[in-house]
Parts: sequence; C-alpha cells; structure tokens
Amino acid sequence: MILGSPRPLDVALRCAQFGWPVFPLCWPNEAGECACPGQWDVTRSAYVPHQERDIGKVPFMGGGHKRATADEDQIRHWWRRWPHANVGIALAPSGLLVVDPDSPAATAEAEALGLRPTPIRRSRSDAYLYAKPHGCPLERAIHKGTSGQIDVLTDGYLVAHGRHLSGADVFIERLSDPHPAPEWAVDILRQQVEERAAKRSAARGTPGEPTDLEDREVLELAGASRVGDRFKRLWEGDTTLWLGEGPPYSSQSEADQALMNYLCFFAGRDAERLDRLFRSSGLMRVKWASSASYRAATIGMAIKATPVCFGEDDRSVPRMGSIRTAQGAGSVVETDKIAAHAAGNRPRGRLKGGGPRRRSIERLRRAFGLTTGRRDARPAQRYGDD
Ligand SMILES: [Zn+2]
Repeated sequence: MILGSPRPLDVALRCAQFGWPVFPLCWPNEAGECACPGQWDVTRSAYVPHQERDIGKVPFMGGGHKRATADEDQIRHWWRRWPHANVGIALAPSGLLVVDPDSPAATAEAEALGLRPTPIRRSRSDAYLYAKPHGCPLERAIHKGTSGQIDVLTDGYLVAHGRHLSGADVFIERLSDPHPAPEWAVDILRQQVEERAAKRSAARGTPGEPTDLEDREVLELAGASRVGDRFKRLWEGDTTLWLGEGPPYSSQSEADQALMNYLCFFAGRDAERLDRLFRSSGLMRVKWASSASYRAATIGMAIKATPVCFGEDDRSVPRMGSIRTAQGAGSVVETDKIAAHAAGNRPRGRLKGGGPRRRSIERLRRAFGLTTGRRDARPAQRYGDD
C-alpha cells in the first residue's frame, strides 16, 4: 500500500458517513496469498485459505454483505480485529448504482454513452459510483453493452478499498456524494429484469424446452430420489461412508467422485456449477480447494460418466455403474445406479413434448410433496471487481 493511503478503517467510516453500509473482505499478504481467516471447511472444522480468484474480494464472515453496517462501533470492532481487511460496500442498502466496465473497450463504450463526474473506485478496472434513481430495480446486469463487458450493479457488493491480489491499491477517488446514475445504465438494469421475467415464463410453459434446475431444486430432487439417502449422506459428508466397518467407499476421494456423479446427473454438465455445488457440500475440504487438477479430474470423470442428465431424455436410464475415481490406480467407485432416477412412480416411456424438464420437475415435486413455490433462488452474488 502506498505511503499515506488511508487505513481501511478510516475509509470504512467515511463510507458509513455517506450512508453506505460496509463489511470486511479477504485481503492478500505481500506474497499475494489469502491473509484473511479464510473459508470455513465443515469436514475439517477449520478455516481454509481462499483460492486465487477470490483473494481480496470475497467476504470471510458468514452472511457476507448481508451483515454490512453503517454502525460506527461495529465498524471499529471489525477493523480493530482485522486492520488490513479490504472494505466492501453493500450496494442495495447504500442506494448506489455501480457502472463497472471490465476492459478499455468497455470503458470507451461507457464514456461514449455518458459517464458524469462521480466517485470512481480505482482498481484493475475502474468502477463508477452513482446514486440509484427512485424506481430503479435492484439487479446485477453482467457483461452488457456492445462490448459485452459492462457490468451495472445495484445489488450485491462492491470491493471499495484495500489491496488487490496483484498488490495494487484499490481505492475510491473523489469520495463524495455520487451523481445520479445515467439513464442508459438504468435501462440496462430494467432490460435485465424484463429478460429474466421472460425467461421465467418460458421455463414454466414451453414443452420441449429443457430448463436448468436451480441449485435448490437439484438438492431437493436428488434428496427425494431413489438414491436420496445415499446422496444426503454424501452431501452431508458422512465420514462413515469411507471409514469404519465395511464402508461403501474405500476413501473420501471415492465419496467425492460419487457425490460429483450424482450432482452431474441432476445439475447437468456445467463444470463451474458442479464445482460451486461441491463447495457447498459437507465433503468440501482442503484437497478440493487447493488442487485444481483434482477438481478438474473429478468433475471431468463425472461428466464423462453421465451421458444423459436429468430431464434430457425421459426414456434413458443413466448407467453409471463402476467408474474410476480421479485418483485412478484401479480405485473403483460403485456408484448407485441412478436408474429410474428420481422416482419409482415415474411414468415409463417418453413424456409428451420432447424434453419437458420443467414438467418432470413439477410432477416430481408433487410426487414427493415438495413445495411448488418458485422462490427466486439466484446464484450467490458476485463481487463488483475482477
Ligand atoms: Zn481470504
């Protein structure tokens, strides 16, 4: 940090004076490593350091930006405890609208559209802090504009101050009352809200259009399926699955693979999503967090072993049988067949309308007495900085 740059505590207090609730974020040490308490690992009952893409950006306190506050005592308490913690601003309660162009081309585009003078968060990419106009939606519009690299955010949080992974300073220039947001940025948010609503109604009605399950639905369906008991034990990280007398798996790595196979079947072959889901499970541990090759191998193995995912073809019965783990070396997982996957009372034969994933889901929900309310379970909110 350059000489004379303000302490995180002072910046946090200034932000609070503007009515912007703040909270502490991960910060890197001189070597660019995670220096914060890290992420809680349930299986080890210990904190694990953040991985590169998260260092300096993510919350380390449970609850994240939802715990942001403008209360001076709380802010002093946090930064007395973690004096070097980066400062995050929670956007929704602060009433800020952030325009965050992610490349020189995106900045040029945003400037051409109009960027009035306002406080700027300097970092690898600069972000412009505006006042959210009345009636503007709370939303996160990512990769917008003709450049496809302009983010506009009124929800989630912004990395406002501290140190970037690269060692560069992150700070707000011209910390002052923000200018009202330009109309084009508000339009981007409104458009995103409309697109989301259109997508949702399409997902409800159109037969033959497979829709993606939300994370919550993946867990509900897997848990309620014929293999639900095994899935739940894996999800919770039940150590008796590989320890003790005659366990079904010979190692935790085999259990990892088995869980990943189930996740892949129910959630689809999206590596990033599978990684995210796994990290929320009870099997999450240091090995997963610290070894990119282990993650890639386990996820790759699951994708290879899952030619048909849930809802893709109602006639198909996925054969998962015996497969090798990412460890190789002849170690074999006898994963349960997810055959006749989600239910015994599932109708045989092809459902009308091609791949009616959404209708299958509703049918299964009814069969298992699950709630049919479609709460808006959006993915975890990302930080306004990369
Ligand atoms: Zn960290």
